[in-house]
Amino acid sequence: MKNEKMGKMQKAMLLCTVLPTLLLGIAIALLAVYLSRSALENEVDSSLVANVNMLKAILEENYPGTYVMMEDKSQGIVSLFKGETELTGNFNLIDAVKESSGTDMTVFYKDTRILTTIKTADGLRAIGTGVNTAIVARVERTSEPLCVRTDINGELYRACYIPIVNKNGEFFGMIGAARSAEEMTRQANAMDTPIWIVTALGTLLASLISLRYTGAVIKAIKKIHGFLAKMISGDLHGEMDMSVTTREDEIGDTGKSIVRVQGAMQVLVERDPLTTLYNRRFGNAKLKHIAERSEVTGEGFAIAMGDIDFFKKVNDTYGHDAGDLVLKTVSDEMKRMMASRGAAVRWGGEEFLLIFENTKFGPVMHVLEFFLDRIRNAEIFYDGVRIPITMTMGVKEGRSDVDLNEQIKAVDEMLYYGKEHGRNQLVVSVDEEEAAAIRERWAEKDPDEVEETVITFPEEMIDSESLMILLANNMEKDIKGEKSAPEEKAEEEKAAEETEEVSDE
Ligand code: GH3
Ligand code: MG
Ligand code: MG
Repeated sequence: MKNEKMGKMQKAMLLCTVLPTLLLGIAIALLAVYLSRSALENEVDSSLVANVNMLKAILEENYPGTYVMMEDKSQGIVSLFKGETELTGNFNLIDAVKESSGTDMTVFYKDTRILTTIKTADGLRAIGTGVNTAIVARVERTSEPLCVRTDINGELYRACYIPIVNKNGEFFGMIGAARSAEEMTRQANAMDTPIWIVTALGTLLASLISLRYTGAVIKAIKKIHGFLAKMISGDLHGEMDMSVTTREDEIGDTGKSIVRVQGAMQVLVERDPLTTLYNRRFGNAKLKHIAERSEVTGEGFAIAMGDIDFFKKVNDTYGHDAGDLVLKTVSDEMKRMMASRGAAVRWGGEEFLLIFENTKFGPVMHVLEFFLDRIRNAEIFYDGVRIPITMTMGVKEGRSDVDLNEQIKAVDEMLYYGKEHGRNQLVVSVDEEEAAAIRERWAEKDPDEVEETVITFPEEMIDSESLMILLANNMEKDIKGEKSAPEEKAEEEKAAEETEEVSDE
């Protein structure tokens, strides 16, 4: 379905770009062919006119005098004279002109061929054959050279004619020169070939360029489509290809906006709205993922469950808003603790699941001890009154070969053991002897490792709450076409600088 849709789009884009290019190419080629053919015709016409003028001049020079037609009626013979000389049957001159110019030459009396190099189908000179009377009429009327396409004895010719006018102004006949139209077509076709080749290459090149561009566009659209399909299938952690987000056009902008939408969707789907910790649903998925990865890498992981002590009392004493403030403060502290250590999940009302990854058990224990101490000393003020808080926790080394629900249940039992045995403590085992052994083992085993890895609680971390709010704001602004808060701030600062510069001047 997906491929079929993309295929259709590709075809449409191809049609939109290649078809106009092809049509334009053909139009340009036809125009070029038309222009080259008319240029060829003009060139042929001027050479034909030059030839008739040359023959006329040669005849004038060699046989001075006027053209006369003598008719011997008794024998039915006509003879052409120029001055004293009879031209009938004297083909030397016109044959020589044909030889040098390559064009057929004819001397007409009125419309009849008297001297000619044109041959009929049976190979004889076409003497006595006639020319189209309309041509003679036009040449007689205008006294200008006339060039036409005409049929001579069944063959098509391009021919030019000039009038022969005797001294007394009387129209005698014409001198004509003709070239086979077939030969001209052959010549024109030879001239057209490079035009078609250049047009075809040009069209091909334009098509390749447009195919390359549309190909890249379609590829980017396909990548966006794949990214969205992943999101629709529930995977909100797909990565948008760099080739899309680095594009500086509308497709690149769309890609970037979709990535922001993905961020906002992650917040909506995976986070708890009050604390912005992972919600229980996503926490389960995260735990499964970490356990699976541990199986592959062989690195350890740990599961802890924590609950705020006497939280109901906080609500009852200071109000629900104060309770919310406590939850947010504890959650922010957890985010700091878990940054680069794993994931913090709001498991229930005031109950939290912590998943440590790529770690041994000892450091986890020490981080949690340190954390509980921070909670004990946390300065949470509501209406100017400090709310003292403690937490109870159970923690267990994670195992990738044991059912995860069973492991959560076990750590939950440890938490409740802690609740029943004085609260405000970290439980590492429900068996007190075993708990003592665990603590001792880890205290002896890796004191350096514990010192180093433990307790790095970055105070200046951008907490995920601010980050998610920023993301959600940006997405909203993007959709409305407004600028994001940081962009606006940067522009305001820039404007302020510019004003300052102006006032300085
Ligand atoms: P324990 O030490 O045994 O855990 O006692 P506790 O009072 O903390 O436990 P309990 O389960 O009795 O009370 C939990 C309270 O947390 C009850 C509920 O109203 C409150 N709570 C749950 N979610 C929220 C929340 O989002 N905001 C606030 N303010 N209170 C909440
Ligand atoms: Mg509680
Ligand atoms: Mg509880």
